[in-house]
Amino acid sequence: MNDCIFCKIIAGEIPAEKLYEDDDILAFRDINPQAPVHFLLVPKKHIPMPKDIAVADEAVMGKLFRIAAEVAKKEGVEENYRVVLNNGAKSGQEVFHVHMHILGGRPEPRPL
Ligand code: AMP
Ligand code: ZN
Repeated sequence: MNDCIFCKIIAGEIPAEKLYEDDDILAFRDINPQAPVHFLLVPKKHIPMPKDIAVADEAVMGKLFRIAAEVAKKEGVEENYRVVLNNGAKSGQEVFHVHMHILGGRPEPRPL
């Protein structure tokens, strides 16, 4: 956990463009955006992968969806965003602290 880049952002040890913060979660802009609007939401608790989400984490994981919508509205993509969570390196997970990608503002429809 000490080497976790998102824990360091949460602790203020690494800078990030924060878009929302409360006791449970943090939202910040992705450093390498893959869409016109691309931000991440993380639980402040270090959970390595989506598969590690426990019953005790259900409330905060649900909150991520609600806050995602609030931030997306502020970013002007209230009705045009996708939600992505990668689970495991083979599925593209690079940072092993659970995070929700919000990809917004893409004009064209795509397959998954
Ligand atoms: P994933 O591949 O699902 O693990 O996504 C990790 C995401 O974290 C990528 O989209 C990166 O661009 C993003 N990322 C990595 N380091 C930082 C950072 N310091 N600040 C903001 N986003 C970051
Ligand atoms: Zn972490």
